[in-house]
Amino acid sequence: MLSAHELKVFYGVIQGLKGVDIEINDREIVTLIGSNGAGKTSTLNGIINLVRSTGTVNFLNEDISRSQTHHIVRKGLALVPEGRKIFTNLTIEENLRMGAYNNLANFTHLRDRMFTLFPRLKERRKQMAGTMSGGEQQMLAIARALMSEPVLLMLDEPSLGLAPKVVGELFTIIRQLREENITILLVEQNATAALTIADRAYVLENGKIVLSGAAQEVLANPEVKKMYLGG
Ligand code: ATP
Repeated sequence: MLSAHELKVFYGVIQGLKGVDIEINDREIVTLIGSNGAGKTSTLNGIINLVRSTGTVNFLNEDISRSQTHHIVRKGLALVPEGRKIFTNLTIEENLRMGAYNNLANFTHLRDRMFTLFPRLKERRKQMAGTMSGGEQQMLAIARALMSEPVLLMLDEPSLGLAPKVVGELFTIIRQLREENITILLVEQNATAALTIADRAYVLENGKIVLSGAAQEVLANPEVKKMYLGG
């Protein structure tokens, strides 16, 4: 579905990503783990062209390396950004409308689908998004991304700052999305949780991939255990 080759990301003279190769197949959950500053966010932002990058990215048989972000989103790739970035002064329903900007003819249908998937958002549809709990805001960020009807959803640290029970609910939803044929690229600091639901994993260090393989194998790797899994 998606492949990135020699992806490099630049912030002025600083190189955030130093040549990364990633492959994502239909209906997989792939996770990208690594410590702070390893390049996880840069990888997602580089793929969707929110930052200056070089290398090739192929998505659904099209080279999107030079495509504008709105074109990539329209083609079926969506990002739930780090820190959620919801519109705090808009209502839940208005946030969903923003997510459907390229698909407004289908707004009512898509919104109702989101309300089925996230009943809490339905209860609070007229509430200002900034007044919701962290977990609810994360659910809204995911719902907003789903309004563009992606076939591949990239999530950047969705569990950050959430209580364990809410993290559990979040991971249940990610699994459910895969059941609905949405392919997932998941960036997580919570490596144990991510590796538990993923099919495959990539480990990033200093802007490079240092290990990749079946998630269960990565989970059992002694180096990974020591570095990322607290033992
Ligand atoms: P975190 O979990 O802390 O978000 P990450 O793995 O997502 O980390 P990135 O945010 O991709 O890592 O950062 C990769 C490298 O690029 C780091 O060295 C970081 O300092 C640098 N970097 C990221 N954003 C910028 C920026 N806007 N300007 C300069 N350097 C940046």
